[in-house]
Amino acid sequence: MPPNLTLVEHPLVQHKLSLMRARETPTGMFRQLMREIGLLLGYEATRDLPLGETEIETPLERARLPVLSGKKLCLVSILRAGNGLLDGMLELVPSARVGHIGLYRDPTTLAAIEYYAKLPDDLPERDVILIDPMLATGNSAAAAVARLTELGSRSIKFVCLVAAPEGVAQLSGAFPSVPILAAALDRCLNEHGYILPGLGDAGDRLFGTK
Ligand code: URA
Repeated sequence: MPPNLTLVEHPLVQHKLSLMRARETPTGMFRQLMREIGLLLGYEATRDLPLGETEIETPLERARLPVLSGKKLCLVSILRAGNGLLDGMLELVPSARVGHIGLYRDPTTLAAIEYYAKLPDDLPERDVILIDPMLATGNSAAAAVARLTELGSRSIKFVCLVAAPEGVAQLSGAFPSVPILAAALDRCLNEHGYILPGLGDAGDRLFGTK
């Protein structure tokens, strides 16, 4: 396993992901599960946020207690499926800024083509958690990381539900210092660039468009 890949093996994450994979899981439940896993992955992705101490008056006495030391976060969703993970993560860090990068896959070349980008202008002062449920070819993730790097993001971490070995190789080959957090590393891609066994088209299943 590449050194920058972390698999989140928590039983709740694994159980919820298996339910999402089932063909018969309806849109509403798929969306709810994605939101719940978003929260759990967000918990893992924020594990290294630095803590400082502050004086707090409890009902009984004053004490020096841990609080987040003002690290500025930005969640960046790769449209459109990234939005499925976003809400759960925002429940954990409601004050995080949110950026969106719209990319579609050219159906023949599978190259990532950017059609939209709206990002906070203080990225050099922010640590970015980039989210997309499926790390398939890695082209979209690499294009998004390239964009965020160009804009000077202080740091970037990539979070997905399901990764394919091809996508991990592509992203970590291009950006070895970007940590990848995933709930599962699946077998391979099929000839259309879909992950096997995977869960199908995450955007379509999330929004009921097919
Ligand atoms: N995008 C998806 O939504 N699913 C895949 O399997 C691959 C890319």
